[in-house]
Amino acid sequence: MSFINKVVIITGAGSGIGKASAIKFAKLSATLSLIDINEDNLNKVTEECRNLSEAKVLEVVADISKDVDVKRSVENTIEEFGRIDVLVNCAGIFGDKGILDSDLLSVIDKVMSVNLRATIAMIHYAAPALIESKGCVINTASVMAKLVCKGAIPYNLSKAAVVYFTKHVAMDLADKGVRVNSISPGPVETNIALHAGISQEVNDAVFASYAKFVPLQHNIEATEVAEMAVYLASDKARSITGSDFVIDSGLALSGLASGNMLL
Ligand code: NAD
Repeated sequence: MSFINKVVIITGAGSGIGKASAIKFAKLSATLSLIDINEDNLNKVTEECRNLSEAKVLEVVADISKDVDVKRSVENTIEEFGRIDVLVNCAGIFGDKGILDSDLLSVIDKVMSVNLRATIAMIHYAAPALIESKGCVINTASVMAKLVCKGAIPYNLSKAAVVYFTKHVAMDLADKGVRVNSISPGPVETNIALHAGISQEVNDAVFASYAKFVPLQHNIEATEVAEMAVYLASDKARSITGSDFVIDSGLALSGLASGNMLL
C-alpha cells in the first residue's frame, strides 16, 4: 500500500496515536501536514517523519479548539500542497466529571471544544478540498462512547457525539464521494491521562488494571490504531462510510457498567 502524492492531515500528531499515525503514513510515502498544540513534540515527530520518507512534511503548531487556528491549518496545507486527500482527526483530551461535581460545566466546555467541536471545524474547513480530491476522514472516538461509567460525563459524551457526528457528516458527503468513518480504541498506553494532570502512579495502575480486565488481556498499541486508520484511508475501504471501527481488546464485550474507568 502506498500514499505517494496523497496529502494526509493529522491532528494531535505530536503524541500517542496521532504520532503513530504520522509515522505509519510517512512510511507509506504520504505527504504530511502535522498539527499539534505542543510545539516541542511536534518538532520531534516532524523530524522523525522527514527521516523516514522523501515526501514533504509540513508542521503546523495550532490550538484546534480555536476556529482561526483550524482555518489557518487547513489553509496552510492547501497553500503548501494544493490538495487534501485524508484528514485524520486524532487530537483529543481527557476529562471526567460527574453531574454533582462543581466544575462539571467548565470541563464539559474544555473537552467538547477539542474532542467534538474541533473535529467538526476541521472537517468544515477541509470539506471543499476533500470533495475535490474525493478524499476521506477518519475521526477518533473511543470505546467509552459505548459504555456508561460513574463520574465520566465529559469525555464519554464527547466521544459518543463524535461517533454520531461521523454518521451525519458521512451522509452529508457521501454523494460527493467523500467517506467519513470513526475509530473507537480501547486502552492505549499513551500520555493522554498524564496530559490531563493524572499522576504517573495512577496512570500506570489504571493501564495495568485495564490490561488484566479486557477480555484479550492486553492493551492496544498505538500502531495498531494507526494501521486501522491507514486501512480506512485506503482504496480497500472504498465502500465503507459512516462506520465506527472498534479496536478495544474486547472491552465493550465486558458490559462495563460501573466503576471509574479512564479513557
Ligand atoms: P495523547 O495525549 O498522547 O495525544 C493527543 C495529542 O493531541 C497531544 O499531542 C496533544 O498535544 C494534542 N492536542 C490536545 N489538544 C489540542 C489542541 N487544542 N490543539 C491541537 N492539538 C491538541 O493522547 P492519545 O491517547 O494519543 O489520544 C489520541 C486520540 O485517541 C484522542 O482523541 C483520544 O481521545 C483517543 N483515544 C485514546 C485512547 C487511549 O487509551 N489512549 C482510547 C480511546 C481513544
